[in-house]
Amino acid sequence: MADDCIFCKIVAGEMPAHRIAEDDRTIAFMDINPWTRGHALVIPKEHTRNLWEAPIAALESTIAMAQQIATRQRDRLGCAGVNLLNCTEPAAWQTVFHYHVHVIPRYEDDPLRLPAKPLEVEQDELAEAAEELRG
Ligand code: AMP
Ligand code: ZN
Repeated sequence: MADDCIFCKIVAGEMPAHRIAEDDRTIAFMDINPWTRGHALVIPKEHTRNLWEAPIAALESTIAMAQQIATRQRDRLGCAGVNLLNCTEPAAWQTVFHYHVHVIPRYEDDPLRLPAKPLEVEQDELAEAAEELRG
C-alpha cells in the first residue's frame, strides 16, 4: 500500500467508495465524478503506478473485471456501448497514480464527444513511426 494513495485507501476500506465488485486481486467502484451514468473504475488491489509499471497479472485481472462490469452496464443500465480508458502519466490525463481502467457506459444520447481530431499524415510518416515501433 502506498501511504498517500487514495485508491489504496479505498482498497483498505479507509476511504468510502461505492464498491460494485471484488475478487482477491481486484476491486471495482463508482467514479466519484462520472462522465455518464454508471461510470466505474477497476483497479488492482496491489499498488502500481500505471500501465508502464503494472505486472501482467494485475492487467489481466483488471481487464477481466472490466469486462464483467461492462456486461452489467449493458444488461442492467441498458447502455448501448462502453468505452474503456486508461490514462498513463499526466501527459495522458492521469490524475490518480494507482493503475486503473475507466469503464464508461455509453448511451445513444449521452454528451460525450471524441476529444481528438486525427492528425493529417502522409503514408511515409506512418511507415516511419511503424518502423520505430516494430519488433
Ligand atoms: P485518471 O484521470 O484517469 O487518473 O482518473 C482518476 C479518476 O478517479 C477520475 O475520474 C476521478 O473522478 C476519480 N476519483 C478520484 N477520487 C476518487 C474517489 N475518492 N472515489 C472514486 N473516484 C475517484
Ligand atoms: Zn495505490
